[in-house]
Amino acid sequence: MHIKEIELTNFKSFGKKVKIPFFDDFTTISGPNGSGKSNVIDSVLFCLGLSNSRTMRAEKLTDLIYSVDGKGPGSAEVTIRFDNTDREMPIDQDEISVTRRIKSSDSGYYSYYYFNDKPCSLSEMHEQLGKAQISPDGYNVIMQGDVTRIIETSDTERRRIIDEIAGTAEFDDKTDKALSE
Ligand code: ATP
Ligand code: MG
Repeated sequence: MHIKEIELTNFKSFGKKVKIPFFDDFTTISGPNGSGKSNVIDSVLFCLGLSNSRTMRAEKLTDLIYSVDGKGPGSAEVTIRFDNTDREMPIDQDEISVTRRIKSSDSGYYSYYYFNDKPCSLSEMHEQLGKAQISPDGYNVIMQGDVTRIIETSDTERRRIIDEIAGTAEFDDKTDKALSE
């Protein structure tokens, strides 16, 4: 399974609807400083709700909405379309889509998630994505500095990260819970 396309609407520097195609083997994004390369990665973290484990480059979620001189549309949306022809996600569809939309309000913001165009909660979306080993702690996105951090960390912490990636950490949690009962 791989990302086929990202569609950004008013997300950060993308002030209109932009579709970014991804290839099935390898895609690089190049461009001058400040042109929005890292914003594309931020859009993946935002859309899949992977931002809680590692920092997305925004102080408030509403900073992710396109704005110029404090003026903007007040809402942003990102859709990621995955190619599922290999059926890594156990759903009988060639394409799987995940959408997240935020709307700013006087009291903060509202967040909406959609899995295959159907509204869902963040945890429902994570449950689906987890079937294809995509998770907030899964290191599906390697951020700048992550590699150095993993090399320099303690043996125990490095083991924890490897368990997390291998998907065995969840069983450790369950074992601990069972033993404490
Ligand atoms: P570098 O090569 O320096 O890493 P980059 O291509 O990764 O650059 P980004 O960090 O993705 O660039 O983009 C930065 C640009 O995004 C800045 O010009 C910033 O003003 C713009 N930007 C960020 N948030 C918003 C927003 N909410 N509305 C409009 N523009 C935004
Ligand atoms: Mg950058």
